[in-house]
Amino acid sequence: MATIDSKIPEGPLAEKWSNYKAHQKLVNPANKRKLDIIVVGSGLAGASAAATLGDLGFKVKCFCIQDSPRRAHSIAAQGGINAAKNYQNDGDSVYRLFYDTIKGGDYRSREANVYRLAEVSNNIIDQCVAQGVPFAREYGGTLANRSFGGAQVSRTFYARGQTGQQLLLGAYSALSYQVQQGNVELFTRCEMLDLVMIKDEEGKERARGIIYRDLVTGEIKRCSAHAVVIGTGGYGNTYFLSTNAMGSNGSAAMQCYRKGAWFANPAFAQIHPTCIPVHGDKQSKLTLMSESLRNDGRIWVPKKLEDAKKLQKGEISPNDIPDEDRDFYLERRYPAFGNLVPRDVASRAAKERCDKGFGVNNTGLAVFLDFKYAIQRLGKKAVADKYGNLFDMYEEITDVNPYENPMMIFPAIHYTMGGIWVDYELQTSIPGLFAIGECNFSDHGANRLGASALMQGLADGYFVLPYTIQNYLSDQIQVPRFSTDLPEFDAAEKAVKDKIAKIMGINGKRSVDSIHKELGHIMWEYVGMGRTEESLKTALKKLDEVEKTFWSDLRVPGDAQTLNVELEKALRLLDFIEIGKLMAYDGLNREESCGGHFREEHQTPEGEALRHDDKFSYVACWNYQGEGKAPELLKEPLNYEYIKVQTRNYKN
Ligand SMILES: Cc1cc2nc3c(=O)[nH]c(=O)nc-3n(C[C@H](O)[C@H](O)[C@H](O)COP(=O)(O)OP(=O)(O)OC[C@H]3O[C@@H](n4cnc5c(N)ncnc54)[C@H](O)[C@@H]3O)c2cc1C
Repeated sequence: MATIDSKIPEGPLAEKWSNYKAHQKLVNPANKRKLDIIVVGSGLAGASAAATLGDLGFKVKCFCIQDSPRRAHSIAAQGGINAAKNYQNDGDSVYRLFYDTIKGGDYRSREANVYRLAEVSNNIIDQCVAQGVPFAREYGGTLANRSFGGAQVSRTFYARGQTGQQLLLGAYSALSYQVQQGNVELFTRCEMLDLVMIKDEEGKERARGIIYRDLVTGEIKRCSAHAVVIGTGGYGNTYFLSTNAMGSNGSAAMQCYRKGAWFANPAFAQIHPTCIPVHGDKQSKLTLMSESLRNDGRIWVPKKLEDAKKLQKGEISPNDIPDEDRDFYLERRYPAFGNLVPRDVASRAAKERCDKGFGVNNTGLAVFLDFKYAIQRLGKKAVADKYGNLFDMYEEITDVNPYENPMMIFPAIHYTMGGIWVDYELQTSIPGLFAIGECNFSDHGANRLGASALMQGLADGYFVLPYTIQNYLSDQIQVPRFSTDLPEFDAAEKAVKDKIAKIMGINGKRSVDSIHKELGHIMWEYVGMGRTEESLKTALKKLDEVEKTFWSDLRVPGDAQTLNVELEKALRLLDFIEIGKLMAYDGLNREESCGGHFREEHQTPEGEALRHDDKFSYVACWNYQGEGKAPELLKEPLNYEYIKVQTRNYKN
């Protein structure tokens, strides 16, 4: 069995990163120009990494599937980005951000990585302010903050409900400058379809390039480099309906997995408590209502079952229910954190109320998020100033005015904590292959706290990878640029073309979306908010059937030698099916509840997640064993030296 070296530096926690940077190997400016780096992805992680590596002098090739890096899914991020600046003087510190993140992740993440994340969080804000990102400010001009779940301080920096967009514009302008300087070459509308590995003189396989498809012409092309970085986002769309952008996918991660990169903790998917409920079976997208709304909105359902029934039938409106008949169940169950409990806790609490029949909406699958109290306290204008664009979005979608009626919300798939395993240097188990942002297994353990994905993506791209990749590349300065005529490129390109031809040749009757929807139903039903041994085993059987349907009954119209969106979706769907299986394997293996992974067999009498630290305090790394074979499980033990592992408590 492979041993796992996560390369955590020696020394006290707070000094590890400084020590690492002081002693790592560097590449001098003349050599940087001789080294090529492929960065796949131009979201916050990819764009910040490509811009910074270009600025350092490396020759970077940056790929994305959209027509512009500005359209990466990161643009959708609404609520904000965390940093331990303590501008509010409310008791924040690097240690507290580190502590909250480890606790929020239910003690399933690496101490050293999370501490580094908290440490560089402050640099991110300085960097973005210098770029001109228009963060919200107080009347006097200082940067404003708000609160997000799982924290008792206000440490979230924001730009109304458009934080991701503003941050991405900052990263994009830095990237564009490097394009203009000739250090970064952009490959837009180009999709990576495989990783190319080449053996070095000692016979060690290293990541040396990619095969990609020009999405406009359909041409299959090759690109080589000394190192490959993937920043290709999360795999939440495995569930078909999610808050992710339609193009978000897990395919690049799966291509790397099949080439030997371990996939870590795939079962850890985040279900966000505040999304607009599903409203029909023709829907292909769910809309997030930002967690920032829980700063001032209060979540409730009726106390009386008869009121819930009347609401479901449309016989009364929420405003007919007096305050004393409202159950503010988060405030009741978790007095210390109230509406700002972490997402996993809030989602399960909503499900519990709905399962007991107290849900609202005609389906009974929704709870209220009410701003009546905030408007009484602050006035409508103050509420509109903070959340105006989110309120407008809600009204546009539901045709209900949230200033006058409570919003209706329900949990939905939102983010994936699992992903490609990386060590402290963000290097995967394949030498020369790095993973950043949401596509790595990240620093969020079993549950990510709000506003910390942007923090992690930008920490990886601006401040971590640009250092750590040099430790790898310093040994590669003698290696000349690679020709894409090597036999390894021939073999990889042939495999890609064969797969496309096989898909185009199925000629069945089902559309990609209809099969994807079926996959999504299975995932939500059997690998969703509550999982059991039985449900996960059922999922594995059903996913095999979905795969058979794919290969026997899929129909992709058109041809492969031109723009073909259905073909793009089909290739991604095949990987989603395999990710679904990995999630079920991982969920079956992890016989405990932690964070977003709730095994119903393992809960406290009060219905809270019950961890089994003696058996499962490890990162589950899945190692590909070949087509049709069950993956091998490798374990990276998690050792906590600086934090006392305890049962999460948001009550007092
Ligand atoms: C609605 C919504 C709101 C959110 N709000 C917040 C928030 O307020 N705060 C917060 O911290 N987090 C938030 N998140 C989470 C956060 O937005 C994401 O985790 C983060 O933006 C991911 O960034 P990324 O760079 O890793 O990936 P992405 O932004 O998903 O970028 C992926 C990139 O990879 C490219 N790509 C993918 N596959 C391929 C391929 N095969 N070949 C070539 N290119 C490829 C894409 O083109 C894209 O450029 C939110 C998420 C959602 C869904």
